[in-house]
Amino acid sequence: ASANTLLQVKDLKVAYGGIHAVKGINLEVKEGELVALIGANGAGKTTTLKTLMGMVKPAAGEILFKNQSTAKIEAHDYVRHGLVMVPEGRGIFGRLTVEENLLMGAYWRDDKAQMANDLERVYQLFPRVKERYKQLAGTLSGGEQQMVAMGRALMSRPKLLLLDEPSMGLAPIIVQKIFEIIRMVAAEGVTMLLVEQNAKLALQTANRGYVMESGKVTFSDDAAALLANEKVQQAYLGE
Ligand code: ATP
Repeated sequence: ASANTLLQVKDLKVAYGGIHAVKGINLEVKEGELVALIGANGAGKTTTLKTLMGMVKPAAGEILFKNQSTAKIEAHDYVRHGLVMVPEGRGIFGRLTVEENLLMGAYWRDDKAQMANDLERVYQLFPRVKERYKQLAGTLSGGEQQMVAMGRALMSRPKLLLLDEPSMGLAPIIVQKIFEIIRMVAAEGVTMLLVEQNAKLALQTANRGYVMESGKVTFSDDAAALLANEKVQQAYLGE
């Protein structure tokens, strides 16, 4: 690992009972990178993210975050360490307002003035969310909920933001908008690991990528090189 390695995953294996979902993968995310993790349904992408967040215990291998094993981090403490996930399905609190949802991302913080600044910054990134700050989050459109989920994650000042299928269930035009936002967040210096079904868009947005197939990493390269790789094109890019 180099000096600016933020996350290092070594020979990670994860099983659900007899089902081997992740079969010994290695991956790395450097400070400031946007890394895409692509692959077919059931390849083990979500399982990998859940394991990184301590929601699933690995059967073998090691996860190093800022050069320290995550094995001892308590489930509720990941966010405090800067490991934050926007889950598949967004995990919005539908009966709370938009602003209450955003503040949930900072519930553990006591720096009120900085929090107010961060809230302003989130509203600048997502003007559409700002317009609806008093609205019950459950009444938002899918795209708006995705924005709130990302805003809530940013409120916890992530060092590494894990995004699970941000485009899921959204109309193409909204997907474009969400990816524009991902680019903006990356431009602010937030390091991200992005799991995405839409492999083409993910690789067009990311710096580097990993391809997973049946629990293994089959390709890893610069995003541009993966986009140009014929095997990746045939299997994942519909070309
Ligand atoms: P998708 O894009 O469909 O979410 P994925 O690449 O994220 O796919 P995972 O959700 O990680 O894949 O699933 C990997 C494998 O593990 C699949 O075979 C899945 O059926 C299995 N699996 C996932 N969660 C569980 C669970 N809680 N119990 C048992 N098997 C599981």
